[in-house]
Amino acid sequence: MNVYDTERMIDVMAPEGYEETETPEGADLVVLNTCHIREKAAEKVYSDIGRIRKMKNAKKNNGEDMVLAVGGCVAQAEGAEIMKRAPVVDMVFGPQTYHNLPDMVNKSLALKADGEKSRILDTDLAVDEKFDQLSKKAVKKKPTAFLTIQEGCDKFCTFCVVPYTRGSEFSRSIADIMADAKKLATAGVVEVTLLGQNVNAFHGVAATGEEWGLAQLIRELAKIDGFERIRYTTSHPHDMTDELLEVHRDVSECMPYLHLPVQAGSDKVLKAMNRTHDSATYIEIIRKLRERRPDIALSGDFIVGFPGETDEDFEETMELVREVKYAQAYSFKYSPRPGTPAAQMEDQIDEDIKSERLAKLQALLKEQQTEFNNSVIGKMLPVLIEAPGKTPTTAFGRSPYMQAVQINIGDKSVEDLMGSIVNVKINEGGPFNIQGILA
Ligand code: SAH
Ligand code: SF4
Repeated sequence: MNVYDTERMIDVMAPEGYEETETPEGADLVVLNTCHIREKAAEKVYSDIGRIRKMKNAKKNNGEDMVLAVGGCVAQAEGAEIMKRAPVVDMVFGPQTYHNLPDMVNKSLALKADGEKSRILDTDLAVDEKFDQLSKKAVKKKPTAFLTIQEGCDKFCTFCVVPYTRGSEFSRSIADIMADAKKLATAGVVEVTLLGQNVNAFHGVAATGEEWGLAQLIRELAKIDGFERIRYTTSHPHDMTDELLEVHRDVSECMPYLHLPVQAGSDKVLKAMNRTHDSATYIEIIRKLRERRPDIALSGDFIVGFPGETDEDFEETMELVREVKYAQAYSFKYSPRPGTPAAQMEDQIDEDIKSERLAKLQALLKEQQTEFNNSVIGKMLPVLIEAPGKTPTTAFGRSPYMQAVQINIGDKSVEDLMGSIVNVKINEGGPFNIQGILA
């Protein structure tokens, strides 16, 4: 979602004459769009500010200025603190106020022109105004796009900052989503990924006053000319309705890939996490899904070393992974986040134990990922070409299962192939990507 938000920031600044650059050096405006989900990500902000400060000073020596802004969830959570600790920062804004970026930048420039300090802070959490503003912007031509349909979360998993930084759960209206979707299709988008922190909790209101869930929304989006692939992320097991499972069987545009985080395999840990599902419920969802779409590729998120997690609990996570067999997954060491209940829990786990468990889990996941990628060797897969490859005779694309594919295109031109779905004969697997030849 931060990628999506960053693209929208570029959109809102374009009419002001700002363009995206490859490097922050010499830029008139630098925005650090930050993530607060784990401590490592949050810590990076201050080192990045230090790096940008040097560039800002270099510009100053040439008699020019740079506006430095910190946006995103660290800004939301620690805005005032950032202002205090880093006087070089001109403005701070949260994930729900970045549509005001042009106003903030102009205000900052005006303050500086008057010889005053720029100290702007905007961390309001109301969401609706943002989307109204963003929907007015033009869309660039491209084969794939994100479309935010839902934001925030009311689930309050005990480890997670999202409900505090993105705010409470909010679904956009059907009319707004459909209007944005049609704009994307007109701009040549072939694959749309619906975004939300809890995307399957989506409950948008249609013009008739009727409420639609994600399943109905996907069915309608699939009817839009040009959309050949639909994906959605991230889902919570709690909201994985039968209707949505059926979409994976019935709607050919809905890709056979699902990112469904479970976090842990031990019911005791899941309870302490306030996940509202146990491991059996999760496994049952996967069974039903595979019954409807046997080739579905599964992805997940895992946290190891949650407070109180014993060796036995961790072994239950390993067991669950062995049972599900993931095509890919993300796994993290538990990171205590300020203001969340788990950060206050006793029995915090030693870093060494967390690292050990993470290494074990990641080795297993890598094995499964390699196995999945190798299982398509020899097959013909439809691949959407998204970008040039590493050499002039290759292109980059994605298989229906979300695998990154390096394609040998021979003497064909990448530009001509961009945005088309081509048949690729896969001849090489591996843990991170697969390779094949254009058929
Ligand atoms: N809404 C999604 C996940 C959003 S956060 C869901 O409920 O599954 C993305 C991922 O970051 C989470 O799935 C979790 O695995 C990880 N995460 C969140 N908070 C964390 C923390 N405090 N420590 C480690 N990982 C965390
Ligand atoms: Fe965070 Fe996801 Fe839990 Fe919401 S459901 S609190 S976003 S982990």
